[in-house]
Amino acid sequence: MSKVKVGINGYGTIGKRVADAVSKQDDMEIVGVTKTRPTFEAQIAAERGYGIYAPESSLKAFKDAGIPIKGTIKELYKSVDIMVDCTPGDVGETYKAEYEAAGIKAIFQGGEDHSLTGISFNSTANYSESWGAQFSRVVSCNTTGLLRTLNPIDKANKITCAYATLIRRAVDPGDSKGGPVNGLEPTVKLPTHHGPDVKSVMPWLNINTMAVKASTTLMHLHTVVVELQKESSTEEILKIMKTSPRVKLIKSGSGLKGTAEIMELGKELGRNRSDVYEIIVWEDGVKVVGKMLYYYQAVHQESDVVPENVDCIRSMCKLEEDASASISKTNKALGICR
Ligand code: NAD
Repeated sequence: MSKVKVGINGYGTIGKRVADAVSKQDDMEIVGVTKTRPTFEAQIAAERGYGIYAPESSLKAFKDAGIPIKGTIKELYKSVDIMVDCTPGDVGETYKAEYEAAGIKAIFQGGEDHSLTGISFNSTANYSESWGAQFSRVVSCNTTGLLRTLNPIDKANKITCAYATLIRRAVDPGDSKGGPVNGLEPTVKLPTHHGPDVKSVMPWLNINTMAVKASTTLMHLHTVVVELQKESSTEEILKIMKTSPRVKLIKSGSGLKGTAEIMELGKELGRNRSDVYEIIVWEDGVKVVGKMLYYYQAVHQESDVVPENVDCIRSMCKLEEDASASISKTNKALGICR
């Protein structure tokens, strides 16, 4: 069977990771990536063998910088089955019209609204909803984190309501423009958009969220409070979490006290860019009292959505009908154990 041909629009934090993850699969391949400016990332992408495509207006700048260009962004559309759009939020609408005109499929990211595609994607919760679709959207890093743990719990013991507080990293590590550098910023418009975003995949879930931006770049941290329909126990919930895809239980007592140590774990595991694709739950921080469940989880915002993009390509391009089979295949290629 021939490989699905994939293009990446926007080779930034998410785009470069999705490009590498797609390259590791045996049923899809990267045909090209787009860059708007001839930055060091464009140079390295070219050295890695990715075909570089740029807007017409930037071609001269790339030529002057000595970075070989394969063509314009629109020319890339002619050689791909699907584009993974990793441009900054709210740019998607313009590109959607171009993908539509070119007759190709496209995946958008969490910076776009659900209304852009009408389908939002999470591998565990709703893989089949994107089956054969022309457009889908992989939900944001925080929403992916909430879905990874809440969906398996809800399947086992219906959730009556969930409340999550998101302590958000201010900016990504490679970004020197944002803040706060020294402070905490609550998101005062409540509930924050994260709860409604979870509902774009689990519409029946009663969930509300609050968020605080913190002066850290490494990871997000969630505190989650869940009311279950039936009484449960800490052991029962841990049993569910231990078999939930892309959820990793750690123990604070083993030295993994916080997000700094978790990023160190990513390095120790020898992951590409020290990425931690799994949602990290502190086993010793899970507690059930009657129907109430409490836990903490950490989200590596730069990478948790990466395996979901690979699975989303498989669903949209009808490469694998079974969600678990696609999850296992992606996991194996990326070194994720479950
Ligand atoms: P980024 O800024 O790191 O990368 C965006 C890339 O797109 C850059 O290379 C930029 O040069 C390029 N670009 C900008 N305007 C463009 C245009 N008009 N056409 C083509 N390329 C353009 O952004 P990111 O963090 O990778 O985010 C991409 C998407 O992924 C957003 O929707 C974001 O909300 C979502 N997302 C980000 C994170 C995260 O933590 N970084 C996590 C999950 C989802």
